Amino acid sequence: MATVETVKGPVAVEDLGPTLMHEHVFVLSTEHVQNYGEGSWWDEEAEVANAVAKLNELAATGIKTIVDPTVWGIGRYIPRIQRIASQVSVNIIVATGLYVYEELPHQYAYRGPGLLLDIPEPMVADFSGDIRTGIAGTGVKAAFLKCVVEAQGLVPAVERINRAVARTSVETGAPITVHTSSPAQSGRLALDLFRKEGVDLTKVVVGHAGDSNDLDYLMELADTGAILGMDRFGLDVFNPTANRVATIVSLVERGYADRIVLSHDASCFIDYYGGMHHLVGETMPNWNYLHIGNDVLPALRAAGVSEEQINQMMVDNPRRYFS
Ligand SMILES: [Zn+2]
Repeated sequence: MATVETVKGPVAVEDLGPTLMHEHVFVLSTEHVQNYGEGSWWDEEAEVANAVAKLNELAATGIKTIVDPTVWGIGRYIPRIQRIASQVSVNIIVATGLYVYEELPHQYAYRGPGLLLDIPEPMVADFSGDIRTGIAGTGVKAAFLKCVVEAQGLVPAVERINRAVARTSVETGAPITVHTSSPAQSGRLALDLFRKEGVDLTKVVVGHAGDSNDLDYLMELADTGAILGMDRFGLDVFNPTANRVATIVSLVERGYADRIVLSHDASCFIDYYGGMHHLVGETMPNWNYLHIGNDVLPALRAAGVSEEQINQMMVDNPRRYFS
């Protein structure tokens, strides 16, 4: 039987169960927290305990798995995630890749084909090492790849990262989640690049597709075989829940329930507000792990989406993605 790597080791894909396909545990930059958070707004023990409580609360609603695309660029730190995973029942699946909108980290700028240190693409070596042997000596293996094509498009750094992710996917079979800009419709650019690199597009989630209500754009993406990430429920600032729900209903009516996954892109702690982090919940009250179960699924049911179709989006599609 096929298995997928989680923080606590391999799990049979049949056992993933209801899955939120894009949630962060922490979005917390190491340099930020080490220079401004410690001794100020960051309390490691309290935040670990808070994350454990939130994930146990989520598990009590029937969610069995969260898929966490936190990579370098938004603060991946696996030892902290291991501490939390050991205290919760929910499976946590982690990623490799790079979260960059425009500029390469200096650590890759001088190493690579044709560069000062002329070596094979080091990102492919790093990403595939995370998948095959584990992340930074923790033994935890990444089960999927994460990259970004934002509104800036395929600027050189972003193109290089996306090609490295695509090549790693082809070499290892690991699926991809790509953060995209729905206003700029950059999902199109990402899928076109992946297709040219030989990626199996049925193993790609177009992240943040749910920020769009443009059915022509969304169907164009899904018609490639790719999966639509309707994954920012609660981020009303980008698209309110009622619109997100109406768009999913329209897509399901058109036969796309087998290419939709649901999530919030929420976290237990995000450092974007720095010392004003307590305002995250005030400014975005629905942006938490429970909004889909409490509000979105009832709204989908009321609009005529069947239990079987909800099961496709929450269980079958995640299982297929990781198979
Ligand atoms: Zn995210």
